[in-house]
Amino acid sequence: MKQIIIGAGPAGLSTAYNFARHDMESLVLEKEAVIGGLAKTLEFKHDGEVYRTDAGPHRFFSLNPSLYKMIEELLGEDWVVVDRLTRQLIDGKYFNYPVDIVQALRNVDPFIAIKMILDYANATVRNILVKPPRITFEDFVVLNFGRRLAQFNLLNYTEKIWGIPCNKIAGSWAAQRIKGMNAFDIVKKALIKGGGPRSMIDSFYYPKKGIQEIYDKMAEFATSKGARIEKEVAIKKITHDGSKITGIEYSKGGKLVNEGVQNLISSMPITEIVQILEPKAPERVIKAAKSLGYRDQVQVFLIINKPHLTKDTWLYFPTTPPTFGRAMEPKNWYPTMSPENKSSLLVEYFVFKGDELWNMNDDLIIKKTMHEIEWLGFAKTGDLLKGWIIRTEKAYPMWDLTYKQRLDVLTNHLKQFSNLYCVGRNGRYFYNNQDHSIETGLLAAQSIIDGKKYDLDNIGMENTYFEAGMLYKKK
Ligand SMILES: Cc1cc2nc3c(=O)[nH]c(=O)nc-3n(C[C@H](O)[C@H](O)[C@H](O)COP(=O)(O)OP(=O)(O)OC[C@H]3O[C@@H](n4cnc5c(N)ncnc54)[C@H](O)[C@@H]3O)c2cc1C
Repeated sequence: MKQIIIGAGPAGLSTAYNFARHDMESLVLEKEAVIGGLAKTLEFKHDGEVYRTDAGPHRFFSLNPSLYKMIEELLGEDWVVVDRLTRQLIDGKYFNYPVDIVQALRNVDPFIAIKMILDYANATVRNILVKPPRITFEDFVVLNFGRRLAQFNLLNYTEKIWGIPCNKIAGSWAAQRIKGMNAFDIVKKALIKGGGPRSMIDSFYYPKKGIQEIYDKMAEFATSKGARIEKEVAIKKITHDGSKITGIEYSKGGKLVNEGVQNLISSMPITEIVQILEPKAPERVIKAAKSLGYRDQVQVFLIINKPHLTKDTWLYFPTTPPTFGRAMEPKNWYPTMSPENKSSLLVEYFVFKGDELWNMNDDLIIKKTMHEIEWLGFAKTGDLLKGWIIRTEKAYPMWDLTYKQRLDVLTNHLKQFSNLYCVGRNGRYFYNNQDHSIETGLLAAQSIIDGKKYDLDNIGMENTYFEAGMLYKKK
């Protein structure tokens, strides 16, 4: 009988790490050949040289100082502060990100600038007099920023990421991502810029070898205390007696393995776990699980024969062209992510699995992407040394207008199992960052260690803008 953890991403490894800190062993079952989950760092070799990139820009930030302390202990000198420069290209012009309203008003067409101010005034008056409900993402941003400013970068970029109109996206997503932030706060920040302590927007902590280094260190510590991490497993079924999870069956290398379960901490998608229960979940639960969707990604990693391509840590592209949504130059995160005289780019397309781009031949995607990179002026097609495609399923849970009712069907069904803890991003179908996945993992383990269930549901529900606050200072 064991503490069994599904998934070796941030949530699963934090669980194993906390068990290990309390001298408790665990078994981690991971379906991939590598650890790190969505926060993995990929390594590519070309001409004997090594290039690293995270699978999408992954900076660490949190409102919880104890997480910084924990990671500092794990990484020591490898935990460094990186100055952030993030810009967004809108209709051919670069603007700061998060948006600096003063800069935006100065650089857009004067008619658009006037419209932005009038729309914001209109939204403010409506907020005071009518107090309109904020049901959709569109309601939320239009009422906080005014329609024209919302259209400037928020509505179009969000539609690029999600692939559905903003009036079909749940307002709770905006509440989580931009709560407490409005046009007035942004103007205030722009006007009092300069001096002062560094905020989480201006800089962030990052491991020298890429974001996965945090999770490599957690895994190293956990295994040194007896944890076992089994990779490339396929979980077949999870058995239960109606009130507890009793066992798990998985295959590895063609062999079927059965384990008894004392507690199960799962970061696999909640939509998948309910489908492998034995006895089976009722049909309405399976139906709800199948109806919850995800947004997937096609990423393109390009090695370029130039020492530098951009000055940004990462860039957003709310308008089209280009057709991709975001790009990062890993060398601007830490210089040794690429060799000295070359650089690389990770370019991200947001898609649904099965879309034309998802099915496109890798060489064609690389060709198309280089064409757009050339249009942006970062490099010429002839500068490309080699490219790779990374396809990622279930990168983002789709919080559409009715997801919560359907998700409740799953969570209510799973509540009957007193020794099951659903943690992490897809484990909870919660659009969260690494810090919240880590917190759910730590707290699930702590619940088992202390023998009382802590409330995991409120993790990630902070009532402030998600980037608010000052940067944690090292000891
Ligand atoms: C493009 C992108 C950019 C992001 N940028 C940031 C950022 O800047 N900052 C930030 O803090 N967060 C960022 N995030 C979010 C961050 O990646 C996630 O919050 C975090 O990785 C979630 O960790 P997790 O352990 O909950 O889930 P995951 O990372 O998804 O890990 C789950 C693990 O479970 C495994 N698994 C799944 N199914 C099974 C199964 N059936 N059997 C066994 N194993 C299974 C998976 O292979 C994976 O290893 C970003 C996410 C994306 C997609």
